[in-house]
Amino acid sequence: MSSMVAGRFSAEDVYNNLNLGLIMLDKDFNILLWNEWMVRHSHVPAESALNSNFIALFNQQLAPGFLRALSNTISYGLPAMLSSALHRSPLPLYHVYVPNDGEAPARMVQSVVMTPIPAPDGSRSCLIQISDSSNSVKREKILLSHSEALKRQVVTDGLTGVNNRRFFDENFTLALQQSMRNDSPLSLFMIDIDFFKQYNDHYGHVAGDRVLKRVAETLKGQLKSPTDVFARYGGEEFILLVGGMDKREAKTFAEQLRESVHALEEPHDKSLVNRCMTISVGVCTRSPQEEADGRNLLATADAALYRAKLGGRNKVVATD
Ligand code: GH3
Ligand code: MG
Ligand code: MG
Repeated sequence: MSSMVAGRFSAEDVYNNLNLGLIMLDKDFNILLWNEWMVRHSHVPAESALNSNFIALFNQQLAPGFLRALSNTISYGLPAMLSSALHRSPLPLYHVYVPNDGEAPARMVQSVVMTPIPAPDGSRSCLIQISDSSNSVKREKILLSHSEALKRQVVTDGLTGVNNRRFFDENFTLALQQSMRNDSPLSLFMIDIDFFKQYNDHYGHVAGDRVLKRVAETLKGQLKSPTDVFARYGGEEFILLVGGMDKREAKTFAEQLRESVHALEEPHDKSLVNRCMTISVGVCTRSPQEEADGRNLLATADAALYRAKLGGRNKVVATD
């Protein structure tokens, strides 16, 4: 086999210019090849590495998984691949730059491939290729955080920043199951801003948006437990699901919601019931035995809201 490439470069020129670590070990783990990438990233010069024992050279610094794979490759001729996901940094290799914050440099994230190579004397050698996976690990992290942000966006209302209807629908079933398991009642609140069309017509859509945000934040601020399911259900309508309240407590809490919006004293000259922005609330509380699939709960709370509107608005109506 020729050691020249296309008659001009030696094989050494090629492997010393690879952006990849190359190590060749004989059956006794003596180092036969140590390319310049290895010199750069291990800080061990070729003169010290060549012909010395790889295991002795790195002493306790090699990862156990790496040593197992290496001995399998040499003893049984099994090729091996160590991905950076499972074996983050098996060798003591470092980037060339030194961190300037005085901390010890962190090991490079590595991907390792081991290939058995038959030696002329019938024994087996091992070729080890090491590549720097730091960038792909960084990329993966960025992609992961993007995908988490997207997941959050999917269940968030763009205008008010509170949860949207999709979030509510997904969590409604879970809340029903939870109420069944805990044998505790579930209260559903339907909340609707009064005379909001008139508000928009009078103050303009931008002002309407601002008030919508303010009301959303105010209602959210009244929640007591992180397990309460609150969402903008559509237009100027909000929905809230709370577990563990009896009927009387639910009615009191609905009154508190109504009062919190009234207390904003957001002027509404075109409201026929008040000088300020108000809401109407319909609430229905059910024990898990009474409520099989949640549809009834929704319909009953909606009917209660309708009665609150008919009854004059800025009102709470609680039903069974
Ligand atoms: P009621 O007291 O009976 O609830 O009367 P209302 O005017 O509040 O109810 P209606 O359903 O007639 O009107 C709702 C209005 O809400 C109409 C619509 O323009 C407004 N609206 C819905 N979504 C938005 C929004 O995102 N921004 C703004 N500014 N207005 C919205
Ligand atoms: Mg309304
Ligand atoms: Mg409405």
